[in-house]
Amino acid sequence: MAFELPSLNYSFDALEPHIDTKTMQIHHGKHHAGYTNNLNNAIKGTDLETMSIETILAELNLNNTAVRNNGGGFFNHSLFWNIMSPNGGGVPSGDLASAINDSFGSFDEFKSAFSKAAGTRFGSGWAWLCVHPGGKLEICSTPNQDNPLMKGVGCGGQPILGLDVWEHAYYLNYQNRRPDYISGFFNVINWGFVSKLYSENS
Ligand code: MN
Repeated sequence: MAFELPSLNYSFDALEPHIDTKTMQIHHGKHHAGYTNNLNNAIKGTDLETMSIETILAELNLNNTAVRNNGGGFFNHSLFWNIMSPNGGGVPSGDLASAINDSFGSFDEFKSAFSKAAGTRFGSGWAWLCVHPGGKLEICSTPNQDNPLMKGVGCGGQPILGLDVWEHAYYLNYQNRRPDYISGFFNVINWGFVSKLYSENS
């Protein structure tokens, strides 16, 4: 069964002014669609065709660059669209808020550490907030379309928040100002969805 490009839960212009319409259209309709098609081509006729994307990534031989790059790209963007919302922003609450305080000291310290991970990732990649069994949170960044589900990549654990820092994610609107994009991202984070992922994986 082939993987399908997931549709967005909001319109392409819904995240303005933080994420612009044209970037959303190209990012979803071209980049994510490309990863999806290339993943399907890479797994066609193999055992991977019957597996979930999470299992494919967790069991992946990292020398399989076609599945590493395109399977990572498929999973990462599918998560990314869901952790943003036009009604997002603010701060988390409940168990996730407590876990952030326990792991990082405060929300502001978390925000600073996550922003630093995203800002200092050289070239293309992602910044992540991951949860380990038991609820401990960890921040890391990974290159290209890698993610911590892959064996030995980044901080491990289950990614519950991810930020795409490829130039294709922000260049049309922000040009070289990646820090402004990172700051804008915090205005659209869907903390309700991130909390749900935290509860399901802690
Ligand atoms: Mn991207």
